[in-house]
Amino acid sequence: MGSGLDGRSVIVTGAGSGIGRATALAFAAEGARIVVADLNAEGARAVAEEVEKAGGTAVAVVGDLSDQAVADEVVRTAVERFGGVDVLVNNAGIMDRMSALADVSDAEWERVIRVNLTAPFLLTRAVLPHMLRAGGGAIVNTASEAGLRGSAAGAAYTASKHGVVGLTKSLAVMYRKQGIRANAIAPGGTRTSLALDVEQGAHGPTTLGPYLANMGKLAGPEEQAAAIVFLASPSASNVNGVILPVDDAWAAV
Ligand code: NAD
Repeated sequence: MGSGLDGRSVIVTGAGSGIGRATALAFAAEGARIVVADLNAEGARAVAEEVEKAGGTAVAVVGDLSDQAVADEVVRTAVERFGGVDVLVNNAGIMDRMSALADVSDAEWERVIRVNLTAPFLLTRAVLPHMLRAGGGAIVNTASEAGLRGSAAGAAYTASKHGVVGLTKSLAVMYRKQGIRANAIAPGGTRTSLALDVEQGAHGPTTLGPYLANMGKLAGPEEQAAAIVFLASPSASNVNGVILPVDDAWAAV
C-alpha cells in the first residue's frame, strides 16, 4: 500500500452506485475504511458488503443527504467507527430534465440545488470541526462538465454544479492554512445510471445537441474514481482548489 491511504477514514456519498461505488472500492483497495452513504439502501449495503468480502472495512449509512440529520449521522458513524474523518468525497448527485430556464419548475430547481449543492454544504460543515481538530484532511467534490460551461445540462444542474465549483474553491482558500485541501473532479460523460436516465426537457436535447457532440468518449466510473483517489491522497499534497476535468478533452474543445 503506497498511497498513504491505508487505515484512513473516508466518507463517500452516493456510494451505492456509479462513480461513488467505484470510488468506495478504489479507496478500500488502498486499505482505507469507508462510510458508504446513499439514499438507496440496497445499493449502499451491497457496496459495503462488497468491500468487506474483499477483506476491507466499510459501513453503510442510508438516508437523504439533503437532510442535516442524515449528514450528522454519516459523520457520527465515521467518528465512532473509524476515529475521525480523513477524507470526504461529496459525490451524490442527481440530473435535471435538461430544461432551459423558463421551463424549470420550482420543484425541479429546489430538488436539484438541494441535493447537488446544499447537501455537500451540510455534510462538509459537519465534517470540518473533526478535520480541524485532527490538523487536516482532504475533501473531493464531484462537480461536472456542467460546472465549467453552460452547454452540458439544463439550467438547474448547470447552476448547481457551478455552485459546487465555487464551494470547492472557497474551502481551498479558507482552510489551506489549517491543512485541509479541497479539490473537485469535473466528469464528462460517464457510464452510470445517471447518464443513462437523463430526463429530456422541452429545449435541452435540441438546443444542446451540437455542443454535446464535443463530449468525447464516455468514461468508466473507475476512471473518475482514480482521479478522486489521487486528489485525496498525499501524492496531491500541493494540489488545492483545483477543478480537474476527467472528460477526454471535452473541456479543451
Ligand atoms: P448514479 O446515479 O449512479 O449515482 C448517484 C448516487 O447518488 C446514487 O446511488 C443515488 O442513490 C445517490 N443519491 C442521489 N441523491 C441522493 C441523496 N439526496 N442522498 C443520498 N444519496 C443520493 O450517478 P453517477 O453518475 O455515479 O453520479 C455521481 C456524481 O457524478 C453526481 O454528482 C453527478 O452529478 C456526477 N456526474 C456524473 C456524470 C455522468 O455522466 N454520469 C457526469 C458529470 C458529473
